[in-house]
Amino acid sequence: MLIQIKNSCTEEELETITGLAKESGFKTSLVKTHNARYIICSGKAEFDLRHFGSLPGVKDVHMVEEDCKLVSRLWKVNETEIDLGDGVAISRKDLSIVMGPCSIESEEQVIKISDFLAENGIKIMRGGIFKPRSSPYSFRGMGIEGLKFFSRHCRARGIKIVSEVMQVSQIDAMYDLVDIFQVGTRNAQNFNLLDALGRTDKPVLLKRGMSSTIQELLASAEYIFSNGNERIILCERGIRTFEKAYRNTLDLNAIPLLKEKSHLPVFSDPSHGVGIRQYVESMALASVMAGADGVMIEIGEIPERAASDGQQTLSLTEAKQAIMKLRKTYSLKKDFLFLEQ
Ligand code: PEP
Ligand code: MN
Repeated sequence: MLIQIKNSCTEEELETITGLAKESGFKTSLVKTHNARYIICSGKAEFDLRHFGSLPGVKDVHMVEEDCKLVSRLWKVNETEIDLGDGVAISRKDLSIVMGPCSIESEEQVIKISDFLAENGIKIMRGGIFKPRSSPYSFRGMGIEGLKFFSRHCRARGIKIVSEVMQVSQIDAMYDLVDIFQVGTRNAQNFNLLDALGRTDKPVLLKRGMSSTIQELLASAEYIFSNGNERIILCERGIRTFEKAYRNTLDLNAIPLLKEKSHLPVFSDPSHGVGIRQYVESMALASVMAGADGVMIEIGEIPERAASDGQQTLSLTEAKQAIMKLRKTYSLKKDFLFLEQ
C-alpha cells in the first residue's frame, strides 16, 4: 500500500496514520521528497482501505502490492516530467535528444560539439569525466578539471549536461557542474550510490545494469526515489546475451514495458546498446517507435580518434542526419498515437 500525504498533514496526524498502518500489520517507511510525502506500507496485512482514506492528513491511498511502489504506474496517473530549467524539460510529451562524446577529452572538443548541438537545437550534452573502463590502462577520464570547462561552455550555450558519477565521494564536487547525474550500467546496483543520489535534488539518469532484469532496474530506481529524489530517468542501454555479433543486445522490449510499469521517462542508449556505428541510427529510430522519450547517442568530430568508444561514435555529419530522422520519426509516432485514440 502507498499512502500519499497532504502537504498540510501535521506530525500528529502522520503519527496516527503510521500507527494505524503498523497496527494493521504493515511495516512502514516514511518517504519525503522535495515536494511530497508518502508512507510506504510493505508486507501483508488485513485492513480496510476506506479506513485509511478517511484519516485527516491523507491525500490518497493506493493498493500497490509490488515491491517497486513509488516508481510504479499503479498510483501515479500523471507521468513524471523533469524540468531542467531554462525551458529544457524531459517528459513523455516531447523527444529528448542527448548527444556528446563518450569521454570529455579537451576544451576544443567541447567547444566543437557544443557549437554543433546549439546549431542543431539539441539541449542536452553528454560526456564522461569519470570513465568506467574494463582495462585499468585505458583512458579513465579528465575528472573534475574536464567537467569545469565542459560545464562552462555548455552553460554559455544554454545546453544542459549529463555526466556519469561513479562513486558517492564524487557527488559533491560534481553537483554544481552537472544538470543530470548519470549512473552507469556497472553501478546500476551500487545501492550506496543510489541512496546518496536519492538524497540530492538533481535528476538522475539510471542505466539498466547489463545483466539486470526490468524488475531490478525498477528496484534501483526505487532506491533513489525512496531516499527523496523523484526526478529519475530510466535508460535501456543493452544487456549481455549469448550474441557476440555486436557489443550488447539493445532490449527494445524494455521500452514499452517500462513505460507501462512506471510513470518515469524512459530513454534508450543505442550507442552502447549495439556498439557498432552503422547500426546506431537504426536502433535509435527503432527506440523512438518503441516509445522512448529520449535517446542518448555518442558523437564526435573524428570518431576514429576518440579516446573511448570510437567504434560506436557517430561523426557530426551522421549525427545531423540522425537528428533529422529522429525528429521525423517522433512526429510520425505521434501521428500513430493520435490515430489510436
Ligand atoms: C557511458 O554512457 O559512457 C557509459 C559508460 O555507459 P554504460 O554505463 O551504459 O556502459
Ligand atoms: Mn561510451
